[in-house]
Amino acid sequence: MATFKEQEFRGLVPLKDHDPELFDLIEQEKSRQWRSLELIASENFTSRAVIECLGSALTNKYAEGLPHARYYGGNEVVDQIEELCQKRALQAYGLDPEKWGVNVQPYSGSPANFAVYTGLLKPHDRIMGLDLPSGGHLTHGFYTYSKKENTRKAVSATSVYFESLPYRVHPETGYIDYDQLERDASLFKPAMIVAGFSAYPRDLDYERFRQICDANGALLMMDMAHISGLIAAGELKSPFDLCDVVTTTTHKSLRGPRAGMIFFRKDERGFEGKINQAVFPALQGGPHEHQIAGVATQLKEVLTPEFKVYAQQVKKNAQALANKLTSLGYSMASGGTENHLVLWDLKPQGLTGSKFEKICDAACITLNKNCVPGDRSAVTPGGVRIGAPALTTRKMVEADFEQIAMFLDECAKIALKLQEKSGPKLKDFVALLDGNEEVAALKKKVNDFATSFPMPGFDPKEMKYQDPSGPPSSA
Ligand code: PLP
Repeated sequence: MATFKEQEFRGLVPLKDHDPELFDLIEQEKSRQWRSLELIASENFTSRAVIECLGSALTNKYAEGLPHARYYGGNEVVDQIEELCQKRALQAYGLDPEKWGVNVQPYSGSPANFAVYTGLLKPHDRIMGLDLPSGGHLTHGFYTYSKKENTRKAVSATSVYFESLPYRVHPETGYIDYDQLERDASLFKPAMIVAGFSAYPRDLDYERFRQICDANGALLMMDMAHISGLIAAGELKSPFDLCDVVTTTTHKSLRGPRAGMIFFRKDERGFEGKINQAVFPALQGGPHEHQIAGVATQLKEVLTPEFKVYAQQVKKNAQALANKLTSLGYSMASGGTENHLVLWDLKPQGLTGSKFEKICDAACITLNKNCVPGDRSAVTPGGVRIGAPALTTRKMVEADFEQIAMFLDECAKIALKLQEKSGPKLKDFVALLDGNEEVAALKKKVNDFATSFPMPGFDPKEMKYQDPSGPPSSA
């Protein structure tokens, strides 16, 4: 056995030689992203510049603390990176640094939200967020009922450590039921109301949220994760005039790396210290400076006129999709969209969201099953959520989204035929997908269509698997 000194230095070996198995899996995933239609509303394709930051030497550095107040040495460069990120984040939302501050260290959206609750609330304080089946996020306080234990079951840590009461969308209109929220808030007296959503196709009424908060002494937090790119571009209303604190992820419509940010008002309430303390040392350790650099460079892009045009196109594409599906006789929750996503109610067709998700997957169309207004159970959602940000990044426009609507229509028609044979069980339905000729023909059309558009982040000509139909089955 060679001594440590005699052993080969392997720190510069490329991944493909160091770990061919993992390299191959990454190449398979690149192929999947390139030849599929990515319609998950929370996803996007980040740029090569961002990916370079993520794969940079910054991943080596510990930087606990804040710029110029760190617990480790060697942070003179990292301090500048984090300050650049903070500066661009405030600029992206037109915020005065005297009035607003930002913490760019949260590892992702969920930790960002929990840091706000940790910093600004006491354990067991009351919060109200949009219910998960109404389009809210888990971290807004989701709980359910356990039949087995015949009791309330806290699903999110938010509902473990705080008392949460949800508000909902109206089952018929699909719009947030602000009147009910107002009535419930006047009884529940929450310490905080959380605005924001993961699956809601409309803009928010911040004035109404503010009035309800003021009438009950509650703080107003906006989680703008899904729409932060559209807000930065001025394509949706800004929450900053009326909210006390605003959180976001950076990898959805903002199109950066996976990370989170918290914006807080700087005033006599001392949110700055409370939130910074909650992020570190209360919840996190060393910030991921490679992510922070990725966010910083993405924010540079967000500040350009091109990004505004991108955000406008995202909205136009979502509308084109909703309009085309509606003209084909399908039902969109709330009657359409004014943001980046569409909620398609499949109940009138007699299909479940789960079956539709599966058939789309088999045809290389990636979307997710989702509750739609009026659904009783989150276990069998009645529809799907479809988002435009990722494919708009691949330069698709309205006509392309109309073509996508036609592909989805084909999926629905094949699904109905298969369901006649399979009966209601998902397992039996899925068993019919493999080897089905109509699904295979649709997949080929989807692959050819998808691969005709540019791919951000990496060059398809340098991929291991360049066949539009995907890697060989032995891969
Ligand atoms: N907030 C909202 C509104 C979201 O939709 C999501 C994720 O989908 C999150 C927070 C959580 O973000 P992450 O998955 O980065 O923790």
